[in-house]
Amino acid sequence: MIPFVDLKAQYHSIAREVDIEMRKVLEQTNFILGEPVAAFEKEFAVFCDSKYCIGVASGTDALHLALRALGIGPGDEVIAPANTFVATVLAISYVGARPVLVDVDPQTFNIDFDDLEKKITPKTKVIVPVHLYGRVLNMDHLMALAKKHGIKVVEDACQAHGAVWEGKKAGSFGTMGCFSFYPGKNLGAYGDAGAIVTSDEALSNSLKMLRNYGSPKKYYHDSQGYNSRLDTLQAAILRVKLKHIVEWNRKRFLNAQLYYGKLRGVGDIILPDIPSIDEHVFHLFVIRTKQRDGLLKFLQDRQVQAGIHYPVPIYALGAYTHLGLTADDYPVTEKLSKEILSLPMYPELLEAQIDEVAGCIRDFFIQ
Ligand SMILES: *Cc1c(COP(=O)(O)O)cnc(C)c1O
Repeated sequence: MIPFVDLKAQYHSIAREVDIEMRKVLEQTNFILGEPVAAFEKEFAVFCDSKYCIGVASGTDALHLALRALGIGPGDEVIAPANTFVATVLAISYVGARPVLVDVDPQTFNIDFDDLEKKITPKTKVIVPVHLYGRVLNMDHLMALAKKHGIKVVEDACQAHGAVWEGKKAGSFGTMGCFSFYPGKNLGAYGDAGAIVTSDEALSNSLKMLRNYGSPKKYYHDSQGYNSRLDTLQAAILRVKLKHIVEWNRKRFLNAQLYYGKLRGVGDIILPDIPSIDEHVFHLFVIRTKQRDGLLKFLQDRQVQAGIHYPVPIYALGAYTHLGLTADDYPVTEKLSKEILSLPMYPELLEAQIDEVAGCIRDFFIQ
């Protein structure tokens, strides 16, 4: 069987160090906002070319608190891509703002800039671009557009730890950048975890209160904040893993190149672009084919795990039917949702395994 992600292989490669660091936390019992949290925040801020990092409980909370910190609420519009994980849009709903969805570009899978411009209104307060599948957006283009219209940018970098645009890290362009450390992400904890990075000191201070019951000091509460802190145990694990992320991202990129070489010209497959190294950290390797459902079943029968990210676009989800949007409004997202297939992708994936996946795909198109 070839798994979609192999978290065990990665744990085994760093087990000694992780076990030592976890034990330290257990011995010190500093479970809530213990010293490893501040240490990780410092290191992750540096990694992201940002001044501050605020550890929170999940990527979803990172997005939610970022919008809260900006004071976004009812009457405001927040723009996000239609092809994303639901959490991007949930965060907008949590603050009571109206999510405005834009279609995506078939080449990059990221926000379509023409559609974005059309959907900006006087009510638009924030754009939440998503560096989907690990590919960083053209941030020059996006930031210029945002500036022109006086709109803030909160990056959803939950799939793009370490991705680089023109020498700068994903998450460092917008007012804030949001990250998830869900176990399967490029930088994953051993449970839920997330973070916000920013270079704005005032926002950093607000976020530190917001994640801790709105409290600047124990039992003093200046605002109605949340209980959304990054766990000390997770921070200790993330500190160990952060030391490996550059190498792991490099391995993902090499695996993407291997897939590319082995799948070029097979059937009607459209392969993802392989931009320059760093611009894409290949959280997912997503191919397209008109025979997606057949190929997915064929791979399953051959013990190869594949996935669809995402099978149901946001506008078609039960949670968002009230927006009254239809597939006709999002031709690219709609088409992609029927053609995309994510192949196994993780740093520890071996060339022999990639060979096997590619062999199965070739067999499918020959049969
Ligand atoms: C994973 C993910 C999130 C949510 O992160 P959680 O840590 O699971 O809450 C948000 N946006 C995108 C694009 C993601 O991939």
